[in-house]
Amino acid sequence: MSYIKLSKQNLFYNLNVCAKQAGDKNKLAIVLKDNAYGHGLLEIASMAKEFGVTKAVVQTYKEALKIEHLFDIILILADTKISTFSHTFHIAINDIADIEELEQNTNIHIKVDTGMHRNGVSPNQLEMAIDRALKKKLNICGVFTHHKSADEFTSDFFYQNTIFKGLKEKIKSICEKLNLSPILFHSCNSAALFRHQNFDEDFARIGIASYGYLCANNVLGFPNLKPVLSLYANRLSSRVLKKGQSLGYGGTYTAYDDISISTYDIGYGDGFKRLGGSSFETKNGQKILGRVSMDSIVVEGTDDEICIFDDVNQLASIHNTITYEILTSQNPNIERIIS
Ligand SMILES: *Cc1c(COP(=O)(O)O)cnc(C)c1O
Repeated sequence: MSYIKLSKQNLFYNLNVCAKQAGDKNKLAIVLKDNAYGHGLLEIASMAKEFGVTKAVVQTYKEALKIEHLFDIILILADTKISTFSHTFHIAINDIADIEELEQNTNIHIKVDTGMHRNGVSPNQLEMAIDRALKKKLNICGVFTHHKSADEFTSDFFYQNTIFKGLKEKIKSICEKLNLSPILFHSCNSAALFRHQNFDEDFARIGIASYGYLCANNVLGFPNLKPVLSLYANRLSSRVLKKGQSLGYGGTYTAYDDISISTYDIGYGDGFKRLGGSSFETKNGQKILGRVSMDSIVVEGTDDEICIFDDVNQLASIHNTITYEILTSQNPNIERIIS
């Protein structure tokens, strides 16, 4: 059976690089949404806990329940339908109307829109949001924002930072005035963390860097990280493809000579998408011959097991997309092995 190997050593390496940049392990919140970027929610969560990460970020309440025992703080990004109270759960307020939906005592982090214009209350709604949250007796634990292009060499990063800094000062003084407990401030995803000279926020929300990737064009001088996920497939059958015979759906590959070929148990049904005519080489340099089927591919040779990839940059470029999309499209039913 095909399987995904997760390198604990590489995960720890990446987390260590991030912890150094942030100043401390305690300043990391590992982002585990979408099945931990396709790696496996419980597998990555357990390893992150073992490393010493105490905070996590997920999309939904359902995800948070699965890892509740592993972290002190779990920020839920996009779900206000919470049915069990847990002090571990912190709910993101994406819209001022979210405040009305939550039960008294719920921990909240108010998201402010500093320029991405996707989610969050606007800076001039922030005081009103605080006021409403206090009236509803919610625990305001954090205020945060998200960068729209921290991985691009533009001034947006600085612009959003300036706005957020101004808001921090304002909120700090409101908290002092109202005698509220200190609030956690956080604005950084992976790329933003590495753009700071002296990171001084309460924590950074690191997704892609944990998994071993930062942006592909390295104009910003980001550190090299180590990909955590590699995909392996096993041989289903072997045969000799005779000179002139064509292979697979549409017969798009024709043998130039008699060659030994084997079929392996990975295909687009497992998240390994059709290549649309692009050439793809496995980790050991074997070319995929003909089309990718739903559950199989063919390469030359007779190895029992092959490593399809241990880095998704080649696939991201073939599919004209980002590493994030290739990672999150790995089928959750493939077995995960920690090595
Ligand atoms: C997904 C996400 C992150 C993580 O971003 P990376 O670029 O993977 O580090 C951080 N914050 C929020 C709000 C997110 O949705």
